[in-house]
Amino acid sequence: MVRRAPPNPLDEQARSVTLAFLDRAPLGAPEQVTAAVRKALLHDSPNLRRGDFDRISTVDLEVLFELYDQHAFGRCLADALSGTQPRLRMSRRMTRSAGLTTIRRGQVRTHAGVAPWRWFDVAISVPLVLGAFRDDPRPVHVAGRLCHDRLDVLQRVFEHELLHVFESLCTGRSSCSGAAFRKLAWDLFAHTESRHEMISPTQRRWIDSGIRPGDAVRFSFEGHTRVGRVNGIRQRATVLVRSLRGRLYDDGVRYAKYYVPLSHLTRVDDHRQAPADSDR
Ligand SMILES: [Zn+2]
Repeated sequence: MVRRAPPNPLDEQARSVTLAFLDRAPLGAPEQVTAAVRKALLHDSPNLRRGDFDRISTVDLEVLFELYDQHAFGRCLADALSGTQPRLRMSRRMTRSAGLTTIRRGQVRTHAGVAPWRWFDVAISVPLVLGAFRDDPRPVHVAGRLCHDRLDVLQRVFEHELLHVFESLCTGRSSCSGAAFRKLAWDLFAHTESRHEMISPTQRRWIDSGIRPGDAVRFSFEGHTRVGRVNGIRQRATVLVRSLRGRLYDDGVRYAKYYVPLSHLTRVDDHRQAPADSDR
């Protein structure tokens, strides 16, 4: 995912460096490149000692950036960024997208006058990367490639975001649904898909439970059976149960609201037979 920004003169130099790279890309077979990055990261990173790591920091992402720039991009990212790195960070708040690259361009006033300014931010989701394989050992696909551990997931997500950085440096914009992006993703990293939505652990629980918003469900509360309808699902399901003492909703019916773990819900065929005041 990437947010667009207006063009900036800094892009001229970046464009020539990245176009020169495209003439010699790819530098090696994708599987060998990504395996070399993995091996070097496990050796060099301060936190990552095994594929299913439990901690990760900005420094790990900086090491990862260096390794990908060296092995996959022939140092062209550092050249195009004039020796700098994007801001790299782990985000606890990103739960829908595993990665997000943001580019901002503008101008800053200096003692020598006005200078162009450009800023890249690459954020990687903590919940989606560190949550992978935690409760569910099944392999997952990211970017169309099978991932067996958290490092596989991190690498695929990071590769996708680096492609956004590269394409933005090359053309001033980036879209992972575009043909150029998808070709480069295949050539460099053998990605067969360029969407980067991952199933979160929470979404995995919904899928496994088979319960969806709108379903009629039954659950037990303080020793009584309640029947209601699922109004939403986050960590827990929000279930609305008809109740004379509840809040009046748009459909003219009063409901009491319950937050129930998905594992405590049983789907029922229909709840219209439920008593009008089932929390009596
Ligand atoms: Zn994308």
